[in-house]
Amino acid sequence: MDASDVENDLVNVLFTEEQIQRRLTELARDIEADYEDKDLLIVGILRGAVMVMADLARSFSRHLEMDWMAVTSYGSGTKSSGVVRILKDLDTDISGRHVVVVDEIIDTGLTLSWLTSNLSSRSPASVEICTLLRKPEALTMPVEVKYVGWDIPNEFVVGYGLDYRERYRNLRDIGTLAPHVYS
Ligand code: IMP
Ligand code: MG
Repeated sequence: MDASDVENDLVNVLFTEEQIQRRLTELARDIEADYEDKDLLIVGILRGAVMVMADLARSFSRHLEMDWMAVTSYGSGTKSSGVVRILKDLDTDISGRHVVVVDEIIDTGLTLSWLTSNLSSRSPASVEICTLLRKPEALTMPVEVKYVGWDIPNEFVVGYGLDYRERYRNLRDIGTLAPHVYS
């Protein structure tokens, strides 16, 4: 789905498909440089990080392993519920492994700060976070994010894996959702 297919639902397009691909390639280069000579497991957070994982992973020019977790911190609306729950755990034993958690967006930081402490308790060699987007509020949470695509304003965005009530995930670009859609 292209932005033009849902243009009445969007205030603007924040990042095009091309911009996203370019930024993910840069992030992959950064991660590759940091994990030279180390084995690497990237962990995607379902369901929003599916697109980021698929494109980020293919931007690497080295081997890596991929695993997935599903957690929930949100209801079906646009506000965080404050509750984190594991819906699907890793299939991989991460003890002694270098792990990079891949997410599409950090808003309050609640999900990832909870998740990194959960993963850290499993004795990995290291745990870092890579997120495509980060909202300013996340900066106030105790979550250290090593790889950030872009910092964005505190608005609700959709596309490229990001949903509003399970829609817009298949939008190629990332756009700001028009308030009339959710009010
Ligand atoms: P946090 O725990 O507040 O950081 O929330 C993280 C999760 O909330 C993300 O993984 C998304 O699923 C969801 N989320 C936060 N902001 C947005 C947004 O602007 N659009 C779509 N989903 C969002
Ligand atoms: Mg998510």
